[in-house]
Amino acid sequence: MVTMTDQHNIKVLSRLQLFRNVDMEDSALLKLLSRCQYQYLSAGQVVISRHEKNYFLYILIQGQLVMQLGEHDDIPLATVEPGECVGEMSIIDSRVSSVQVSASEATTLLVIDQDILWRMVSVSHEIARNLLYIMSERVRYSNLIVADSLEMQRKYQRFAMTDALTGLHNRGWMDDAFERERQRSERDQLPLSMIMIDIDDFKKYNDDYGHLAGDQILITVAKAIRTPLRPNDMVARFGGEEFAVLLPETRIKNARIIAERLRFNVNRADPGKLDDKVLPKVTISLGITEFKHGTDLDAMIAAADIAMYHAKRKGKNRVEVSTDFDAQNI
Ligand code: GH3
Ligand code: MG
Ligand code: MG
Repeated sequence: MVTMTDQHNIKVLSRLQLFRNVDMEDSALLKLLSRCQYQYLSAGQVVISRHEKNYFLYILIQGQLVMQLGEHDDIPLATVEPGECVGEMSIIDSRVSSVQVSASEATTLLVIDQDILWRMVSVSHEIARNLLYIMSERVRYSNLIVADSLEMQRKYQRFAMTDALTGLHNRGWMDDAFERERQRSERDQLPLSMIMIDIDDFKKYNDDYGHLAGDQILITVAKAIRTPLRPNDMVARFGGEEFAVLLPETRIKNARIIAERLRFNVNRADPGKLDDKVLPKVTISLGITEFKHGTDLDAMIAAADIAMYHAKRKGKNRVEVSTDFDAQNI
């Protein structure tokens, strides 16, 4: 029978991460090692279950272990190769394991009870240092996973805030960002203006040239609106063929000049071709208003919307000012 402390075995153990540069002749250590055991697993057998306490350090002698988030999760977080170990994290912090560890093939483990591990740490500086090294590697790796998943979260958040067709911010983003800007204007007593934009006769455009052509127009108009604005100005796709622009620190007089610039820019924007067919240009109608301190965002949107409908009624392809303002004097 192979005992834990025979010569061959000691040689195998000395190659493990935990015993690197450790004096394997040390009698106190040999005594502790003789109380450890090997465990033999077949493929699929679980070593550490998720959400359960773990009292052992497992060192992989032969075979392979996989770490997964759950039993039915087939994408491994990581694999453990011979010489490496698992279980040290849950021993150190006494918390339940956050992953499930199982054998992916016939596997041999050296199992060290946590009490014995702590005793090994106190008899050998090298073991203490190796354990620290193993843990720091694990923390570094976990940080990488956390960083990756944060990046994914940000990406998803960006998708959730962006309109897939035009690349502009969507209504959800707008409700939030416009409201914050409104509050800032209120607090700092700064002017704030809004432009509501609606593409003229867009239904007919879709009917005449097809929905894909309509989509191409939406992209063209979005670009023509975004390009002439300042970086601090905010643009969102408000709905189907409607866009909203918020102009911080801007009085209605300047908002009108900017709105005219947007109208001009859309007028001359070339939508290009679709299936070799040249697509005609489109026009937009715009309504502008300035934020009245003490009112809310909905009131501002409604005022700009009404002004935009006036522009429609007056023949489209034009800018109208909210009726609260004397259009002659701005
Ligand atoms: P008006 O000049 O008065 O604004 O008339 P209109 O035809 O532009 O307005 P209406 O509200 O009657 O029609 C809007 C059209 O916009 C109808 C809808 O099919 C189209 N639309 C909305 N969203 C999209 C989209 O994502 N892609 C395309 N291709 N069309 C869209
Ligand atoms: Mg509309
Ligand atoms: Mg329209």
